[in-house]
Amino acid sequence: MTLIDAAADLFLGYRCPGCDRPGRSLCLACRAALAAGHVRFVGRDPSPPHLPLTVAGGDYVGVVPRLVSAFKDEALTGLSGALADRLARAVAHLLAALGRPGDRYHLVPIPSTAGAVRRRGMDHTAVLARRVSRQLRQECGLVLPVRSLLCMRGRVVDQVGLDAAERWANKMDHVVVRRCGPAGSVPVLLDDVTTTGASLAAGARALELAGTPVLGAVVVAATIRRYLPRAKRSGPDGSPSHAAGVA
Ligand SMILES: [Zn+2]
Repeated sequence: MTLIDAAADLFLGYRCPGCDRPGRSLCLACRAALAAGHVRFVGRDPSPPHLPLTVAGGDYVGVVPRLVSAFKDEALTGLSGALADRLARAVAHLLAALGRPGDRYHLVPIPSTAGAVRRRGMDHTAVLARRVSRQLRQECGLVLPVRSLLCMRGRVVDQVGLDAAERWANKMDHVVVRRCGPAGSVPVLLDDVTTTGASLAAGARALELAGTPVLGAVVVAATIRRYLPRAKRSGPDGSPSHAAGVA
């Protein structure tokens, strides 16, 4: 810890959002942990219909859940660069595997509900997508503009506590295309975290119905344990077991 970090902690109470160490921003250890994510294709079990091929920037473990939460729920937008690094690597991986020379692509963020956007003061996936687009252009010479083509329609309940089938039913009819993308360009879906794959599947389905199938999807991180059916998530007395939300 530098003297400046110590002074920032003493006088301003600044802490690393990943590990709570005193400091002005994301500490080097947390930054390194985020950068060490294993970029790879991930599947979901069970796999919802329409789930696109998905590349994750790493697993949803260690400091990642805290950093994602700090970014979107505490509006620590200074974390967007570090999270976007993972997404940019995921996009490069996806294009290297599935892209075709000469084809054009654009990034489509998975939308949040209007209530979530109001509560957070930002559309967090759109913020990430713009950052990723800028990094890809500056660092790799890749041009993937952001097109916010999707929106949430109707009442969507909070996904927390729902199993895979319930999440899919909750999202399927509510993610809709609000406008068409650029002609001749292929969408790449972008989200922060994939758990059951319901959001990505709903987004891919909506774009598919609009006549623009996606190349695939990218996420900052993927949970590594599959969801259990609701019946298996109850304690001995029938009460919900938080620890068994994923298994
Ligand atoms: Zn840290």
